[in-house]
Amino acid sequence: MATIENFDFNGKKAIVRVDFNVPLDENGNITDDTRIRGALPTLKKILADGGSLIIMSHMGKPKGKVNPKMSLSQIKDAVAKALGTEVKFAEDCAKASEAAKDLKPGEVLMLENLRFYPEEEGKPVGIEKDAPEYEAAKKEMKERQKEFAKTLASYADVYVNDAFGTAHRRHASTAVIADYFDADHKMLGYLMEKEVKAVDNILKDIKHPFTAIMGGSKVSTKIGIIENLMDKVDNLILCGGMTYTFAKAMGGHVGDSLCENDKLDLALDIMKKAKEKGVNLVLGVDCIAADSFSNDANTQVVSVMEIPDGWEGLDAGPKTRELFRDAIKDAKTILWNGPAGVFEFDNFTGGSRAVADAIVEATEKGAFSLVGGGDSVACVNKFGLADKVSYVSTGGGALLEAIEGKVLPGVAAVK
Ligand code: AMP
Repeated sequence: MATIENFDFNGKKAIVRVDFNVPLDENGNITDDTRIRGALPTLKKILADGGSLIIMSHMGKPKGKVNPKMSLSQIKDAVAKALGTEVKFAEDCAKASEAAKDLKPGEVLMLENLRFYPEEEGKPVGIEKDAPEYEAAKKEMKERQKEFAKTLASYADVYVNDAFGTAHRRHASTAVIADYFDADHKMLGYLMEKEVKAVDNILKDIKHPFTAIMGGSKVSTKIGIIENLMDKVDNLILCGGMTYTFAKAMGGHVGDSLCENDKLDLALDIMKKAKEKGVNLVLGVDCIAADSFSNDANTQVVSVMEIPDGWEGLDAGPKTRELFRDAIKDAKTILWNGPAGVFEFDNFTGGSRAVADAIVEATEKGAFSLVGGGDSVACVNKFGLADKVSYVSTGGGALLEAIEGKVLPGVAAVK
């Protein structure tokens, strides 16, 4: 099997799937270039070998239609700067044969947003899933997806997948395309290799105590991974917005806090399972309650069980932060996904900061710490602590699915 390190790209054209779905501000400026930097080792290796490079990615969710706001042309110059060389641009990713053919060693061509074509995702557009014609439309789209993937494949001699962020999707550019290359001409990029290894570290080589910190807004979107982790962890911290679903499930009054009223039974079930499995479940006991959802709101520290009406819990309180630290500081394996409060507001970063600081403390004592999922990565970046944890994953959904134990189509396709 080919690997990025061993393959000699000299004189070859490589088509590389990257995840350049970077956040842009209203003027189209990149606000966080982590994903571009993440792909550089792979892209630079190909160029240094004397290969030529065709870069492809998606950006945003254009749902199969051309949308200038999600055009990758906006980031072309930033990519050129990062690579230190000119980048040509193909405005139609499915009609780039000529541009690809003309590429000389050391030259770079970037394709327009793959998701401007519905074939990339391979899902019928504009037909409801329960409509009678859906199945037939899906079948037809799968055929079109193969043709689209074949076109992309025709541009190059070798395929590299370095887009961990979309590795959990069987899309034309992330998986289907691999069918058109033999085993010696398809491989993972360096970033993907690192991501896969980091997940292996968590799943296969767990050193105990293992503490997982799951935060973010809702329990419903994290339930798969919470259940999966329950068999592996010693300490499970559930924080952020889901705190209040648990508090209410236990009979608390949560005021105007985020609360999934239809998930109260689920919360009680998680608590029961944790008890049965001997997992130390750590839930918030106090919170910083605010009188509006804004950075400048008035605040008070209250018990999560007694939040007055008109107030909502937006961050973990001081007692809770201590509980978090206790469960993290002596851990040997740590996984963090999802902030412990509305960290986007500077006045409500304290809980997430406490989590991050404790993770750094444990990492300094030798723990393996993995931080993943868009928001927790934004958190460690905001605190300037990204270099002080063992590994910061670029994947959100992909990371969670990998940790749930699912095989990622993007990885399976090249192996
Ligand atoms: P998720 O996408 O589910 O990982 O959730 C991330 C989001 O959860 C972030 O934008 C946080 O602002 C938000 N969040 C964290 N804690 C709270 C809270 N107490 N109330 C409302 N939103 C929260």
